[in-house]
Amino acid sequence: MTEPNGKGVLALYWAASCGGCEIAVLGIDDKILKVAEAFDIVFWPCAVDGKVHDIEKMPDKSIDLCLFNGAIRTSEQEYMARLLRAKSKALVAFGSCAHEGCIPALANMNSREQVFQTAYHDTPSTDNPFGIRPQTETEVPEGTLYLPLFYDTVKTLGQTVQVDYYLPGCPPEADRIWEALVAILENKLPPPGSVSGATTTVCDDCPRTRTEKKIKEFKRTWQIIPDPDICLLEQGLLCCGIATRAGCGALCPQVGSPCIGCYGPNAGVADFGARMMTALASVIDSNDPEEIDRIITEGIPDPVGSFYRFSLANSLLRRKALSNHRLVAEAVPEGG
Ligand code: SF4
Ligand code: SF4
Repeated sequence: MTEPNGKGVLALYWAASCGGCEIAVLGIDDKILKVAEAFDIVFWPCAVDGKVHDIEKMPDKSIDLCLFNGAIRTSEQEYMARLLRAKSKALVAFGSCAHEGCIPALANMNSREQVFQTAYHDTPSTDNPFGIRPQTETEVPEGTLYLPLFYDTVKTLGQTVQVDYYLPGCPPEADRIWEALVAILENKLPPPGSVSGATTTVCDDCPRTRTEKKIKEFKRTWQIIPDPDICLLEQGLLCCGIATRAGCGALCPQVGSPCIGCYGPNAGVADFGARMMTALASVIDSNDPEEIDRIITEGIPDPVGSFYRFSLANSLLRRKALSNHRLVAEAVPEGG
């Protein structure tokens, strides 16, 4: 606790993400009042008035806890990651985007040029007769306007600055958020670099009955109404519980929906997609290469979206190769 009033100092930030993590903080319900009692919130652009230059003036390590959600897509987000890292004692990669890149990092299948071409020219709803694209500098009568640089590659927070703890999930469950806040308040922090949650998998929390898995066909969720008691993977639905870190209480399979892996890989797994592919290879019921090829190509039409929906930036490959093999040398402009 560093404030004269005995309170801790808390900051929250939102980079490349959907905003769900911000709402998830409020999911702790009335405990948010205990957070307000225990912490002075010095920075939370979504909810509290506070300016970046106020943070810049703070001494280093004067923020006890920073919950940073979102991946790093722009120079501004990288600047804020570096700033909040310097000012914070404990920096938490909060949620799947900060932890693994999540949905924003699926753009790593494309370059900035392709993203801009789609967003500003090709989509049916785009009306851009002069072909205008965002520029990092624009002259207007009042002076120069600046926009952050949009990077080719989405990175995780941990690929940008040193992260102390990871709180996975899209978004993290309220109980896990509260446990993390209590750990800070009671000074019972896990070892640096820890990922919050269990070391087991979603399958371990799942109440569905499992027997031997032998899959002849993968099915899309709209193709069947699954049996309510039997493992979804055994019914041909691509359930990722087998590779996913426990922590949510197996929410999705309990209501008949396959786990899509939002808590990231379970402990000890370096690459979520590789783990899933290995697991599936052992349950496909065929020795015939042509039949195996058919089962996979017909049943899994979007392998990247199925296996790396949340983890492409954090995977071993990180992104699709850029066509001209250029290095992604993206320095932060001075002053962010
Ligand atoms: S339904 Fe999914 S989470 Fe449940 S046991 Fe089967 S594979 Fe695991
Ligand atoms: S079951 Fe899987 S996709 Fe659903 S909340 Fe849990 S980890 Fe996320």
